[in-house]
Amino acid sequence: MSLNAESTAFRSALEVIRAVEPRVADAIGAELVDQRESLKLIASENYASPATLLAMGNWFSDKYAEGTVGRRFYAGCQNVDTVEALAAEHARELFGAAHAYAQPHSGIDANLVAFWAILADRVESPALKKAQVRQVNDLTEADWFALRRELGNQRMLGMSLDAGGHLTHGFRPNISGKMFDQRSYGTDPATGLIDYDKVAEAAREFKPLILVAGYSAYPRKVNFRIMREIADSVGATFMVDMAHFAGLVAGKVFTGDFDPVPHAHIVTTTTHKSLRGPRGGMVLCGPELADQVDRGCPMVLGGPLPHVMAAKAVALAEARRPDFADYAQRIVDNAQALAEGLARRGAKLVTGGTDNHLVLIDVTGYGLTGRQAEQALLDSGIVTNRNAVPRDPNGAWYTSGIRIGTPALTSRGLGTAEMDQTAELIHTVLSQTTSGESKAKYVLDPALADKVSKQASDLLAGFPLYPAVDLG
Ligand code: PLP
Repeated sequence: MSLNAESTAFRSALEVIRAVEPRVADAIGAELVDQRESLKLIASENYASPATLLAMGNWFSDKYAEGTVGRRFYAGCQNVDTVEALAAEHARELFGAAHAYAQPHSGIDANLVAFWAILADRVESPALKKAQVRQVNDLTEADWFALRRELGNQRMLGMSLDAGGHLTHGFRPNISGKMFDQRSYGTDPATGLIDYDKVAEAAREFKPLILVAGYSAYPRKVNFRIMREIADSVGATFMVDMAHFAGLVAGKVFTGDFDPVPHAHIVTTTTHKSLRGPRGGMVLCGPELADQVDRGCPMVLGGPLPHVMAAKAVALAEARRPDFADYAQRIVDNAQALAEGLARRGAKLVTGGTDNHLVLIDVTGYGLTGRQAEQALLDSGIVTNRNAVPRDPNGAWYTSGIRIGTPALTSRGLGTAEMDQTAELIHTVLSQTTSGESKAKYVLDPALADKVSKQASDLLAGFPLYPAVDLG
């Protein structure tokens, strides 16, 4: 699309919205200004392309399309079929998966689809077979009662939250923790790395139905071949949640033992993080689980969002282009440059560095809590998020860590030299901030915060965000 076409498209859209509710148009415009001006280091965020954004704002939003491609519970879904089939085809080709399900509305939803596909395959199907019936409606009251108890009495082994696991991997505040009896594996206190022998030991003792790998805050690669061997040794289904690092898999930075797709029975992802698509989720699997996965709606999902599936198809097509591999490699190069820059200046990093898109700073090294550090950085124009570190002394709310990631700034074009400048800005703020009278309070000279904000926006000025979009 030409520069003019992008500007015209977004300007016209805002004009149409402004005529109905000007405050919404203003908020959309203000969001662009904020995103342009801040140094966005949130590891789970990115900047989707104008084509991806525009694919979401249209009449596909009006269509109901329960069911799957060619097999809908609603009439008139031929165009939805086109975009859903395209999204699935691009996903299969990109990741080398036998089956792709593009309907999940988010990462949490994708995980729920996967859990229920596994439960259906491992618990429900054998029960139906045993009762010699084809579907749950044909079970007797007694058999149905027994099956429901059995479905709610299964085990999951996943990475602990403070080691970087995700709430949806069986933790109590999430539905997964209420569904499964969960046990966690952590990381080695000396190295900060996953200890596969310990995972194998936990699996032998606990005998989970599902072994989950994947993380939101672990700065290293995971060996999925070893994890699959562990799962196989105890008869567990091996699931990988690659929400965070899907872009690195798509861009072939993670290959061989570090590519989850050939090793896992089922893989879930978000489409909006390092993959740089619209907000959404997806499930990949082999033929064995495909039918169960396709029942995601109405099992746990509301009706599909055709406009988002259209945008997934666009973003996945972009990720299949050769320049996406270059982008993915630059994400990791940038994260490593950022980690080196921080470590050289004295920051304490969990595991000492990174081999993916994220870096976890243990801010107790600066005498701060994660909450204090997050706010001080925000005052200085640097957007990050606080995160627990392994065996966190400050708990999950205040935390002791700051998680930073490079997918967004890499999309904007910043490179390793700018990452070193970014490390300098982060270190300057954290080393000049002192802890206040509570875990949330801190003292930072406002003049210093202003100075760093100005330096951050000067740094960004050379890398305009959506350069073709001029809202006037
Ligand atoms: N899984 C992992 C590993 C995540 O990091 C996240 C979100 O941060 C999710 C799932 C949930 O994704 P969503 O917010 O799209 O539901």
